Amino acid sequence: MPELPGPYDDLDAPHRGPAAPVPREPAAGALRVLGRGLLRRCPRCGSGDLFVSWLRIREGCPRCGLRLEREEGGFLGAMTINYTATALVWLAVLVVWLVLDLPDVRLAALMGVSLAVAALFPLLFFPFAKTIWCAVDHLVARSAPEPSRPEGRSGPPSRGRGGSR
Ligand SMILES: [Zn+2]
Repeated sequence: MPELPGPYDDLDAPHRGPAAPVPREPAAGALRVLGRGLLRRCPRCGSGDLFVSWLRIREGCPRCGLRLEREEGGFLGAMTINYTATALVWLAVLVVWLVLDLPDVRLAALMGVSLAVAALFPLLFFPFAKTIWCAVDHLVARSAPEPSRPEGRSGPPSRGRGGSR
């Protein structure tokens, strides 16, 4: 059945242009990419040695060159991951503490342990949060259309239809 031309044909021409570009090398699955992030490894190539120090990540992966340090504000995702992980760990500590200590809860000791968790865990977890966020960022970036490709579906609407079909 022939497709009738609709009013929006110019905006998304589904039959023109080539199919989605084939990646140069097979990309790792999403779980694998996230697993690399959990292990403080490069999400794209799996290489380690991404950190100059415990708290400082390199600008790019030393093996594949994937950009690791993003523009200003790019650390917000890592901060969110770090905060969430800290909250979950503290919640686990609280539950175990209450299970072991009820009915006579030692509040002062619980406060001390809570403060220690809140102060130390984010520092220990920081590089993991950073590479996990890099993995998420990599997954999002690689599924987005490349801006350098003019034949992308979401390309700029340059001009009207050049002629009849
Ligand atoms: Zn890499």
